[in-house]
Amino acid sequence: MPEIPEFFALNEITKPREKRVYHNNSGCPAGKGIRVKERRAGTCGYGICEDCRERNEQESSGSSGQPRLGTRVPKRRLTLPHFG
Ligand SMILES: [Zn+2]
Repeated sequence: MPEIPEFFALNEITKPREKRVYHNNSGCPAGKGIRVKERRAGTCGYGICEDCRERNEQESSGSSGQPRLGTRVPKRRLTLPHFG
């Protein structure tokens, strides 16, 4: 499931501060359970939902087979001078 812009539920405010979370993955069951009219964009300074975090990590660790930028291994060619 793709990563989406962060949002949080209005009723997070009813939880203790350290338990409040935001979501940013469209596959997150908790995030999906939040009704659209109860969502607000942004993180509100909350911690990320564990479920969302794991999903994002699974996707970024890459089963897509596409190499990420910067992972190219430089080829080293030995060029020995020829004498004679
Ligand atoms: Zn979530």
